[in-house]
This record gives sequence, C-alpha cells and structure tokens, in this order.
Amino acid sequence: MSDDDDKKAATVKPFAAAGRGKPCPMCGKPAQVETRPFCSKRCADLDLGRWLGEEYRIPAVELDDADLEELEKAIEEQGSKGEKGA
Ligand SMILES: [Zn+2]
Repeated sequence: MSDDDDKKAATVKPFAAAGRGKPCPMCGKPAQVETRPFCSKRCADLDLGRWLGEEYRIPAVELDDADLEELEKAIEEQGSKGEKGA
C-alpha cells in the first residue's frame, strides 16, 4: 500500500503551529512574553513611534477655503519677509 505517502503530504504543519504565539509584527521574530506581541522592547517602541507619527500626519481640523486663503497669505508674507531679511 502506498497510501502512507499521501497521508504524510497532507499533514504539513500549518503556519500557526510554528513557534508559540504570533510573530513580532515589526520584524517577524517570535514574540517574547514580556514584550508581547513584539519580540523586544525595541520593536514595541518602533511600533509606538510609527503610530504617533501617523497620528501627527492626520490634520486634527479640516481647513475650509477661507482658512486656506489665509494660510496662503501668511506663507506668502513669510516668504517675502525671508527674502528681504536674507
Ligand atoms: Zn521584532
């Protein structure tokens, strides 16, 4: 009987069975208990920094046209001032 070979092929370990727990979302190394879900404090800090960076990039208030015009004026004024100052 050669059925055994087929059975072996079917019992390939699923990805979830590799290592205990999920891998570090930053670098893919196995996560450590103290720094779950990351492999190290460094990766945890990196992820936190990335999070904060993304938050800062999102404007808290949406500008309407009037605000944009004022902003443009302010930038123009600053620009001409800078040229004169230099
Ligand atoms: Zn990591």
